[in-house]
Amino acid sequence: MKIPRSHPRYESLIRRERLVRAWKAGIVVPEGLIAHGRGEAWDYLFGEGTSAPALVAEKAAAAHLVRAKRPVISVNGNVAALAPKEIVRLAKAIPARIEVNLFHRTEARVRRIVRTLTRHGGTGVLGTGGDARIPHLDSRRALTHRAGIYGADVVVVPLEDGDRTEALVRMGKTVIAIDLNPLSRTSQMASIPVVDELTRAVLNIDEFVRELRRDPEEAARIVKSYKKADNLRAMYSFLGWRLRSLLRGRPARRKTRD
Ligand code: ATP
Ligand code: MG
Repeated sequence: MKIPRSHPRYESLIRRERLVRAWKAGIVVPEGLIAHGRGEAWDYLFGEGTSAPALVAEKAAAAHLVRAKRPVISVNGNVAALAPKEIVRLAKAIPARIEVNLFHRTEARVRRIVRTLTRHGGTGVLGTGGDARIPHLDSRRALTHRAGIYGADVVVVPLEDGDRTEALVRMGKTVIAIDLNPLSRTSQMASIPVVDELTRAVLNIDEFVRELRRDPEEAARIVKSYKKADNLRAMYSFLGWRLRSLLRGRPARRKTRD
């Protein structure tokens, strides 16, 4: 479908179209389309822009990533469909390894996603095979690489499932989630929940990574000062402010970044 640029919700329609195309290409599963709908509903509530507390979490995520010894970005079908270029760019900036890790895993789909990322400039993308298992998860979902997620100290898990997030935290890793639902098990379990839309979050983290790579002292200070509980409370408070503004009849659409 051709979407006119003048459409008031152009960006959102493009994202939907990308997902449908990726579903037809065997990269996204139907469950991924449903998950996107959940994300969109939360994005409406937040005003479709990055909130101030999300920016704080994005900066903390960047600080952890530049200080990590073995950082890894986990990619699934929706992420490959929505932000392949942005993910590859972030991986290069950190620099971090990319591993394709799927909830609904088939080797063929892993291969297609690896190919998509490679086409966008990704190098050494891990995924097929796997030589280690995340403990406390059933077999196919648990498959990972020692050189990737299994051996990582810091893992970025965009649009991840709650169970796997919890299992990675239990392995002692610093887990950075990107998930618009602050109430999901993923956001609740992650070490740093970034409650923002995927592409916006990746672009913001990328910008902070480039900034903090030049300033290790500031990165160390941010790692120390970030408090997950305080940040999530600020997120709920932002949401409360949005809803109260709506109650007063004002469509609060404050955007700190776009
Ligand atoms: P959980 O397992 O964490 O309790 P869930 O089962 O609802 O949550 P999953 O399908 O496991 O969710 O993970 C997908 C999550 O990603 C959902 O919480 C959804 O809101 C969120 N999401 C979907 N699309 C986006 C997007 N483009 N940007 C950010 N978050 C998104
Ligand atoms: Mg889930």
